[in-house]
Amino acid sequence: MPSDRKVATDRANAILEIDLRAVAANWRRLKRELAPGVRMAAVIKADAYGLGAAQVGPALLRAGCELFFVASLDEGIALRKVLPKARIAILDGALAGSEAEFARHRLMPVLNDLGQVTRWSKAYPRKPAIFHLDTGMERLGLSRAEVDRLTANPALLAHLDVAAIMSHLACADEPEHPKNPEQLARFRTALARLPKAPASLASSSAIFLGRAYHFQIVRPGAALFGINPLPGKPNPMRATVALRAKILQVRDVDAGETVGYGATHRMERPSRIATIAVGYADGWLRSASDRGSAAIAGRRVPLVGRISMDLLTLDVTGIEADRAKPGAYVDLLDDSYGIDDAAEAARTIGYEMLTLLGRRYARVYRGAR
Ligand SMILES: *Cc1c(COP(=O)(O)O)cnc(C)c1O
Repeated sequence: MPSDRKVATDRANAILEIDLRAVAANWRRLKRELAPGVRMAAVIKADAYGLGAAQVGPALLRAGCELFFVASLDEGIALRKVLPKARIAILDGALAGSEAEFARHRLMPVLNDLGQVTRWSKAYPRKPAIFHLDTGMERLGLSRAEVDRLTANPALLAHLDVAAIMSHLACADEPEHPKNPEQLARFRTALARLPKAPASLASSSAIFLGRAYHFQIVRPGAALFGINPLPGKPNPMRATVALRAKILQVRDVDAGETVGYGATHRMERPSRIATIAVGYADGWLRSASDRGSAAIAGRRVPLVGRISMDLLTLDVTGIEADRAKPGAYVDLLDDSYGIDDAAEAARTIGYEMLTLLGRRYARVYRGAR
């Protein structure tokens, strides 16, 4: 008897395969960049960048991760259910009135302004929290003026269990950008004025800026999931996702006919068009219309015409009819054409492409327990 899951996968027109072994391999690969003793946390916000925090969280825990970052309180509450013991920090911070929820679920707030620091130290002086300093993002975190006020009030600091002091770089994926050493210097200056606590600055790309950026805790996200932390250079990470979808129909198209909405693509020669069960509602962004490609039996075929909500069209003129036929699989993401390639075709970055990968795919996890 086939399992229910097997039936669902056979029935599905598109299958997203997520390799938790590759996530663990990426964890080990990043660890190799670190000096002994530097700890590594994992950022698994946005449902582990779309891969599923309920599966990725436990896989990273098995790999040795002890501290997890998510964005929102709700993400933290959900993650707490699958990771009953791990330390979980919430990047969005603790807005006034939410403190009790953090305590109830044993979640650590990332304190982003002085008001949050004050309220937390009053409500839960013995529960750990993370300080976030803004060193140049102008987004979240205590400003320099707030650090001044904080250091002028030693009583406030005495009533806090600071698990870490963190900041975030604006240009870590551009190694030569002058903003990197500038933020590093600002971070060091602020750290020197605050009580001693483990410091954390580096996300995925910043790990590759060298050990001066590592401090005591690094906190990668994207690289764990196979996104290239070194844009423009060979990707040191392993692909974690594969996407394949079925051909629904193949048709002969006369020269001069157009394919799809808006009639944007006119065939110059008699052609064969395969229609695939993936569209922009599945995260295959419409901005990749008439761009990008897929593979059939290892051969690349161009995407032609506009991407529709549920469908896209490929020019399979050069492919044998017994390979390009209804029910046959097309590879949209694989080891040789990854999330960054698909993102480039859609004129975006791997982060956006990955987090948007759809909810309609049948999901298969490799290496789950
Ligand atoms: C998302 C995020 C990270 C992880 O960044 P990656 O580039 O995905 O490694 C680290 N720190 C903060 C504050 C973040 O928002």
